[in-house]
Amino acid sequence: MTDSRSEDELAGVPTREEIERHPMDELLRTERLPHIWCPGCGLGTALSCFTSALMRSGLDLDKVSIVSGIGCTGRVAGYLRLDGFHTTHGRAIPFATGLKLANGDLKVVVFSGDGDLIAIGGNHFIHAARRNMDLTVICVNNFNYGMTGGQVGPTTPTGARTSTSPKGNLEHPFNVPNLAAAAGATYVARWTVLHARRLEKSMYKALLRPGFSVVEVISPCPTLYGRFNRREYGTDMIEYYHQKAVIRHDVHPWEVDIGLGGEIICGEFVDIERPTFQDRLEEKFGELRPSDDLGLLHRPPVELEAHGEGILAQTVLPLSPKEKEKPVRPRALVSQARCLAEREGGGGAPLEILLCGFGGQGIILSGKITGAGAALHDEREVTLTQSYGPESRGGACSTALIISDEPILYPHVTCPSVIVSMSQESYTTYQAQLAEGGLLLIDADLVEPDPAAGQHVIPIPATRIAEQDLGRRIVANIVMLGALTALTEVVSEGAMRKAILDRVPKGTEELNMKAFQMGYDYGQGLLSEEASA
Ligand code: SF4
Repeated sequence: MTDSRSEDELAGVPTREEIERHPMDELLRTERLPHIWCPGCGLGTALSCFTSALMRSGLDLDKVSIVSGIGCTGRVAGYLRLDGFHTTHGRAIPFATGLKLANGDLKVVVFSGDGDLIAIGGNHFIHAARRNMDLTVICVNNFNYGMTGGQVGPTTPTGARTSTSPKGNLEHPFNVPNLAAAAGATYVARWTVLHARRLEKSMYKALLRPGFSVVEVISPCPTLYGRFNRREYGTDMIEYYHQKAVIRHDVHPWEVDIGLGGEIICGEFVDIERPTFQDRLEEKFGELRPSDDLGLLHRPPVELEAHGEGILAQTVLPLSPKEKEKPVRPRALVSQARCLAEREGGGGAPLEILLCGFGGQGIILSGKITGAGAALHDEREVTLTQSYGPESRGGACSTALIISDEPILYPHVTCPSVIVSMSQESYTTYQAQLAEGGLLLIDADLVEPDPAAGQHVIPIPATRIAEQDLGRRIVANIVMLGALTALTEVVSEGAMRKAILDRVPKGTEELNMKAFQMGYDYGQGLLSEEASA
């Protein structure tokens, strides 16, 4: 009998798949990648140190839970292949406390940002430290609220500029190690992401020791904090850490304030033992846990399937080249939509438009461009309202416009005649609001329409065009605006072009004009196809 293995296999040469596999793949939900973090962000390094520490710790991964709050760091819970909980803003610690009390066998880790843990969650942080809850807290400190647009936060150094402190922060920041130590934490360390090995070691120690342990990770946010403070690249910030970070294990935590341009003192500042809350609980009640007493452990299991992946569900569907539904009479649909608007508007012809998707797709910018095009260049009446979650990246968002030739008395969009949807979540949320006979444009690769909804849907491969033809996914919104303009003429082509040029970042005008043109051509193509059918 012959051996069916190839020569390479017999020689022990690793396969391509084996070569490409990342050592931490086992711990990552690779199906959720690529992640949403910006180039140069320190969160990848912080996560990598954590996965390494966790693997090294030997903890049973089936008994490790990860809890995050809101913010860029909050995404960690969704990327780790652990039992993970992406909770509400500032509530990661109380959620984790509940988990630990219900099941003392779990190792519960809170992985969140400075804004989430120290501002809205600040009270929970100090009280969990005071109780010495058996939790490991990884607090990534990037000195601002990154996800929501770079606002001043509780750790922003005095004098630092942010989107809400353009003249410099007037307040004194929290010193996280000192706060944790003063409140009763039993292990407190601080490292920058430049100190990857030391950071990993502290995370490892924090994971294995009982009690409230806190590891503060100083991490670059070049996109916002860095940009406002003249360090707009991740490497600039790493260079800054290289110049300013000093290691001093022996100092009192009150000496480790971070001032603008000053030293960043790193080290292990607290490493003590004292009874945890669970120790006291057992001392008082023996093996009995409060949840046993209340019968909570004996409730029937919750039907998790009913909620799908719940709050961890991703909004982005994988790109697929599959054939999309043919467009259905776009011009006719638009005129139908406009007739409807005119009828409902009593002759003033206000047209309601809703643009929706997820944070980071430029939905709000698209609304501003459309509104500016109509108001400033076509000289029409316009109202614009916006809606978005606490995250400016990854969460659901929408922008709603009313465009009319008459004064608009009520700015709220209630029954849009045109909806443009660039994510599945936004489609699910808003499609039912579409006026009867209205026009629904979707991103062909990110939205799977519901045939049962009975709406005429026009798929536009905006993200595909942006990625494959322009090499920049970020301009998918402008491609979509091109298609919207061609199909609806709700704003004139020239007005849209001027509005785009006024609003896109300097240096990107040519790219955005190309994106608009490609979307416009695609829309025109649909109309010609329709005319010749
Ligand atoms: Fe990182 Fe800042 Fe980008 Fe958030 S906004 S992913 S913290 S660089």
